[in-house]
Amino acid sequence: MPVVAIVGRPNVGKSTLFNKLAGQRISIVEDSPGVTRDRIYAQADWAGREFALIDTGGIDTETDEVIPKKMTEQARLAIETCDVIIFLTDVKTGITDADENVANLLRRSKKPVALAVNKVDSFTKPRDEIYEFYALSLGDPIPISASQGLGLGELLDEIVKHFKDPVETSDEERIKVAVIGKPNVGKSSLINKILGEERLIVSDIPGTTRDSIDTPYERDSQKYVFIDTAGMRRKSKIKNDIERYSVVRSVAAVERADVCVLMIDAAEGATEQDAKIAGVAHERGKALIIAVNKWDLIEKDNHTMKIFERGLNETFSFATYAEKIFISALTGQRIDKLFDAIIKVEESRTKRISTGLLNEVMIEALAANEPSSDRGKFLKAYYVTQVATGPPTFVFFVNDSSLLHFSYKRYLENQFRRAFGFDGTPLRFVFRNRKE
Ligand code: GDP
Ligand code: GDP
Repeated sequence: MPVVAIVGRPNVGKSTLFNKLAGQRISIVEDSPGVTRDRIYAQADWAGREFALIDTGGIDTETDEVIPKKMTEQARLAIETCDVIIFLTDVKTGITDADENVANLLRRSKKPVALAVNKVDSFTKPRDEIYEFYALSLGDPIPISASQGLGLGELLDEIVKHFKDPVETSDEERIKVAVIGKPNVGKSSLINKILGEERLIVSDIPGTTRDSIDTPYERDSQKYVFIDTAGMRRKSKIKNDIERYSVVRSVAAVERADVCVLMIDAAEGATEQDAKIAGVAHERGKALIIAVNKWDLIEKDNHTMKIFERGLNETFSFATYAEKIFISALTGQRIDKLFDAIIKVEESRTKRISTGLLNEVMIEALAANEPSSDRGKFLKAYYVTQVATGPPTFVFFVNDSSLLHFSYKRYLENQFRRAFGFDGTPLRFVFRNRKE
């Protein structure tokens, strides 16, 4: 799925535009308590094309002097991680120095950019005031009003035009792994430990292209590729790589991965920000491993892991299927287990179960715990079949899907997991109405 970033100065209307474009498709996981604040990621679609939308904002509390610097960082991040960039400007303020700097960066990057001029609140009057934005040399400025929803179709047409047709990856046997998490949890240490220091130094040549930010790796004759290792390498140069940026980076990496390794600092525990990142992996149907790092620093007895796991299941209540592993990137402890887990969860994600077996388990599950009635009507399920892998997706044919209770869906999912495994992967359940 292509990743589209919105870049622009504070107050040009990024959040307003983000909310308009995201529309109803705001992520379900964000209904979980504590995940709603500070929303920056949503799925959106236009003309039948789905895309991930990211608001790179989050510099609103800064003073005027640091804005240009922050904007530059923001734009760099978008250039590095996203496929198309919406550069949002404001017709009321006109072009500012900060706008010009960002425009220069964007132009040099050769990334597809849609230049949107916001707060054009009347589309009936002549729109002469947008002509000055041609001076940014980023193509035709597209007038919009984010708050009134004007001009958004034109903007979306321009964005979608730049999407590449999805290509079947030739390298199917290579597992794509994204190592994600907040700054300082130990991502680069882990990658370093796995690849060996030399590899990183060798690949840390100025002018690295987008292609080389992914690092291929082979271990016990299984091939892997680590996604977005450039972000980890460059980290030292971005002094204040604030957490929000790490979410932007994570979203882009998750989109391209099969397996996400979410790293958490053992001393700190899992946070809201971590839940948000895990939520993206969950929604995008990626396998998830929670790697609790710096385990070497924790004083422990034989209950410590269990207690920690319980905490993780609370924070990641929507993804209790995630594999949990306790590692030390510093000492290398259990890194071999991490690879076992990667292989296992990828197998889960790509597993196919025969229709015969699925129906046996469904019938048993229905018999063991009959659906409760709703106004005298009972849910009946006739048939189930697996329609996709990556993640495994099941279609149930039922008498009336409106009778399906959330808790019953969860019950069915638990029964499927118990019968077939599926460790580490989200599952999708679809219910379709059909006559008996
Ligand atoms: P951000 O800081 O870039 O995320 O900007 P916001 O989305 O928070 O918007 C900043 C201000 O501009 C808010 O007061 C919005 O109501 C206002 N705004 C956003 N879009 C429009 C628009 O199309 N027209 C007008 N007149 N105001 C807008
Ligand atoms: P990143 O920002 O997520 O890439 O984190 P780094 O890999 O730069 O690690 C941040 C700090 O944590 C560094 O000082 C590392 O040496 C330290 N660190 C990373 N992994 C471990 C670990 O497993 N144990 C201990 N004790 N320290 C670690």
